[in-house]
Amino acid sequence: MASPARVDLDGNPIKVMTICMIGAGGFIGSHLCEKLMAETPHKVLAVDVYSDKIKHLLEPSSLAWADRIQFHRINIKHDSRLEGLIKMADLTINLAAICTPADYNTRPLDTIYSNFIDALPVVSAGDFNEIMLWLSTARKITNVSFTSLLAKSMENDWKLPSQGSPLRQDPAFYVLQEDASPCIFGPIEKQRWSYACAKQLIERLVYGGKWPRIHYSETFNWIGPRMDFIPGIDGPSEGVPRVLACFSNNLLRGEPLKLVDGGQSQRTFVYIKDAIEAVLLMIENPARANGQIFNVGNPHNEVTVKQLAEMMTEVYSKVSGEPTLEVPTIDVSSKEFYGEGYDDSDKRIPDMTIINKQLGWNPKTSLWDLLESTLTYQHRTYAEAVKQAIAKPVAS
Ligand code: NAD
Ligand code: UDP
Repeated sequence: MASPARVDLDGNPIKVMTICMIGAGGFIGSHLCEKLMAETPHKVLAVDVYSDKIKHLLEPSSLAWADRIQFHRINIKHDSRLEGLIKMADLTINLAAICTPADYNTRPLDTIYSNFIDALPVVSAGDFNEIMLWLSTARKITNVSFTSLLAKSMENDWKLPSQGSPLRQDPAFYVLQEDASPCIFGPIEKQRWSYACAKQLIERLVYGGKWPRIHYSETFNWIGPRMDFIPGIDGPSEGVPRVLACFSNNLLRGEPLKLVDGGQSQRTFVYIKDAIEAVLLMIENPARANGQIFNVGNPHNEVTVKQLAEMMTEVYSKVSGEPTLEVPTIDVSSKEFYGEGYDDSDKRIPDMTIINKQLGWNPKTSLWDLLESTLTYQHRTYAEAVKQAIAKPVAS
């Protein structure tokens, strides 16, 4: 019996698409490819310089979806084949980017090129093709009625309300609305903001150009298996990934988790598998998604980085059977950890009104549950390799 036609949120049949996914070999790309292969009939032209994270989808050739996914090893900086692939596709998704904060202040030019200049040819393809872009949520702090709160604060010291100020208790101060919140970055010598500025410039270029078929996703700390790398195992020993992989690395090595500037910053974490559901809704409901910016995050999963460290320590002990350290965390200054020019976002919560109304999407997974499945994966994938790396004598 033929399977029933897949329909969109308005009951219309979903057209089978060819999707050119740039950065398909990364964290988000690998999960999106998995979802598209397992649950839809769409085809993917996967573009990246690496394919390790999607190897299980490319081989063996007997896989049920083998004729629906092709990998193209292309560096989009200098490869004319990209234009041909974009033209073959109905939708282009650009995920390629330098997006680890440790790079923003140490490699600001690479960061700006990667997030703005290298993305320009993809954006211009919006003339003939539907495009989806990823934005940054890295903002110093922002809000709707921000100007009045900021003005109150500025009366005294011309600074953002300090930690502990009652002005910070007002949700209007930290809930980010895609279509209303101002965007505040740190000063120029805080090069951490190079990434957010480059993403913001792409957003403004697209908006100014009125490409109606370009839509965006504002990603609020999507986390899960295959995020980044474990230094010295599947990435450089000196590399600094994002917080999930940093803390996983510490736990795997049985060392204290490093809290940058005391770990007081707050984040909302959303499980990658929930977030990918939202992306699929965007892909398959273009009439509702085009021209829109959607916050994709989980406002219910807010913690300080210190609380995240404590929860990860507890969950890791449960999944690995190893006892927790007597001193599970240590404080480290941001200058020591990231170098000169680092700066942080202190609190950001996604407003879910637009994505709720347009796509009916809500995240489902609690922070504990997402950490449990992610750390089970980290333990299964890396524990043995880390043990061997630690046991290896250091070359003199
Ligand atoms: P990732 O680093 O895991 O994936 C990016 C992929 O792009 C990598 O596989 C990399 O090899 C590839 N790439 C980079 N430059 C390339 C080039 N010149 N040519 C070909 N391939 C190239 O990152 P991710 O977490 O999957 O993020 C994807 C997108 O989402 C990025 O645009 C990022 O800025 C945005 N984003 C993600 C988060 C999050 O929570 N994960 C938060 C904010 C924004
Ligand atoms: N962080 C930390 N210890 C680490 C890595 C990161 O305390 O080992 C902090 C970092 O300073 C920031 C938060 O964790 O406050 C989230 O950092 P991440 O790199 O994941 O991305 P961001 O949300 O800042 O883009």
